[in-house]
Amino acid sequence: MTTSKNDQLFERAQKTTPGGVNSPVRAFRSVGGTPRFITHAEGPYFWDADGKRYIDYIGSWGPAIVGHAHPEVVKAVQDAATRGLSFGAPTEAEIEMAEEIVKLVPTLEQVRLVSSGTEATMSALRLARGATGRDKIVKFEGCYHGHADSLLVKAGSGLLTFGNPTSAGVPEDFVKHTLVLDYNNVAQIEEAFANFGDQIACVIVEPVAGNMNLIKGTREFLQALRDLCTKHGALLIFDEVMCGFRVALGGAQELYGIKPDLTALGKVIGGGLPVAAFGGSTALMSKMSPVGAVYQAGTLSGNPVAVAAGMTTLKLIQQPGFYDKLAASAKRLADGLTAAARDAGIPFCADSVGGMFGLYFSETPPNNYAEMMAGNRERFNIFFHHMLDEGVYFAPAAFEAGFVSAQHSDEVIDETIAAARRVFARL
Ligand code: PMP
Repeated sequence: MTTSKNDQLFERAQKTTPGGVNSPVRAFRSVGGTPRFITHAEGPYFWDADGKRYIDYIGSWGPAIVGHAHPEVVKAVQDAATRGLSFGAPTEAEIEMAEEIVKLVPTLEQVRLVSSGTEATMSALRLARGATGRDKIVKFEGCYHGHADSLLVKAGSGLLTFGNPTSAGVPEDFVKHTLVLDYNNVAQIEEAFANFGDQIACVIVEPVAGNMNLIKGTREFLQALRDLCTKHGALLIFDEVMCGFRVALGGAQELYGIKPDLTALGKVIGGGLPVAAFGGSTALMSKMSPVGAVYQAGTLSGNPVAVAAGMTTLKLIQQPGFYDKLAASAKRLADGLTAAARDAGIPFCADSVGGMFGLYFSETPPNNYAEMMAGNRERFNIFFHHMLDEGVYFAPAAFEAGFVSAQHSDEVIDETIAAARRVFARL
């Protein structure tokens, strides 16, 4: 019998929950071993059921940008909770939240609050189809946009292949409307529009991709998407659920100066509670129910406790120098790990943008899904487990982006790099 509480909890969890987890990557399937069951978190750290402390580089997969259990966020949540948990009627706090998001994200005039990134992208897609009267959508291999049916499609290998479902249970009838292309490939998207331009409702993209490790969209690629959508009357959707408020205060659209028609947001805007949003121009958003004919709704949308966490987080990230420090921390980590690997003779590189980073067991950063898949996954898995033993928690899959928070001080980063030096020497 194992004496590890994590092991015991994992065994118990698997009896009543598929795979023992409520979201697949948490199960450590890719890296092997027992998932850590978390008891509490503070600043850059969390602790598992065996009492071990980890420096956390996931931050709940993005939301924990100001660090875990930030006192001001916790206080706002407590205060809101005492006034009632959910009303199913509008509140002033929702107006403030919408005003704040619209102020910060360059292209937004109106937003609708929802409870998950999946809802945000799914609804943006429905709006794009409703607004254009077209069915086809374009996505890129390796970009994840939540688990709505038509988005759970990965690329076939050939040019302009219509997608195959990557999930059982997605009807072919949905999949046939999803065109999957290579990320950062301008020639392919030009050809797609040349062939199907009058049928494409929208192009949805992670402008900075964080679901196939970290891969930056090139300016040329994103500008081509913008120009082609404009030319053919399709809508450009930036899925900024991950990169919004993460790569810059105004998200990737501010960083690149490229204007999408619709934007999906999540993660950071909830500060760790379920808030997400989608938005665009007033003209487009006026097509949403109850003003327009595109339906979307939610019992807990704009939930007052979640909005309190989100709004407080949005205030904290506007403190002067917040993003400079965040970006410097991610870069310090990326540079430090790269140097440590070089000294150990391990083929490795790392990159960062704002508070996101990528770790690659390859000589150069990947530019698309295929290049990313060519990285050395086995070596990552060994690295991951050794780092875990050292008290550093990276994403438990070879090809996920990582995140730093405002609480990842230079000391915390340097402690991580020192641990990595020990680990690289053993690889
Ligand atoms: N879009 C992107 C870019 C994401 O990274 C995610 C989640 N990782 C989603 C959509 C889906 O968000 P959620 O998990 O909140 O449904």
